[in-house]
Amino acid sequence: MAKIVEGVHFIPGQDEFIPDSHVYVIGKPSSQDLSLIDVGLAGKGEYKIRSLLAAGIDLKAVKRIIMTHTHFDHIGCLSEILRQMPWAEIWIHTLEAEPLEKGDERTVYGMEMFRTMCQTQYGLKPGALTFQVNRKLLGGESLGIGGMAWEVIHIPGHSMGGIALYLRAERILIPGDVVYADYAIGRFDLHGANASDLNKSLKRLAELEVDILLPGHNRILEKVPSGYLLKTARQWESALV
Ligand SMILES: [Zn+2]
Ligand SMILES: [Zn+2]
Repeated sequence: MAKIVEGVHFIPGQDEFIPDSHVYVIGKPSSQDLSLIDVGLAGKGEYKIRSLLAAGIDLKAVKRIIMTHTHFDHIGCLSEILRQMPWAEIWIHTLEAEPLEKGDERTVYGMEMFRTMCQTQYGLKPGALTFQVNRKLLGGESLGIGGMAWEVIHIPGHSMGGIALYLRAERILIPGDVVYADYAIGRFDLHGANASDLNKSLKRLAELEVDILLPGHNRILEKVPSGYLLKTARQWESALV
């Protein structure tokens, strides 16, 4: 687990033939009020727990898990994590929380072929990724958690209920799979995705002052060049109609 700044830590994903999302741990250590942002791929829960323990984190301090979105590579190990911290609340945007509670796994797997592949590979039964959500986010909230103020921004396009978390004070953005390093953006061909929404979401993010970009996969950017998000949005806009 690596420290990005005080109150923001990073557990890199361990990709297999399917990617494993990065996990971010937010909250000032002294607050004893930590949140995990995403958890990762099925089978990768133990690795995340080991990383937390190795960093000296008392699992009891982890009060909640906030999902940027509910794709399998982000939520696949949620039951493994909850077994170790059954007290942790789950916070997800309402548009993905509702299907998740009903056992509608279309967003989780994104496409039929992928569902069959994952269920076979990981021995998952239909409905295995059904969860009750403690707080349904809407976007626009300012979350006073862990001694910090994180803003929730609804950024649909890669998925219906995708959110970014933004720490304005330190200009840190956690955008899930909507935008990555190297001018890359998330795919927009899965269930609930929408190219034109993704275009709008990228433009919305481009309005923020961002020095540190912490995406769901691949490189993190600790020194975001100025205008990076706007340049990315412009580069992709003709493909996103
Ligand atoms: Zn995704
Ligand atoms: Zn992902």
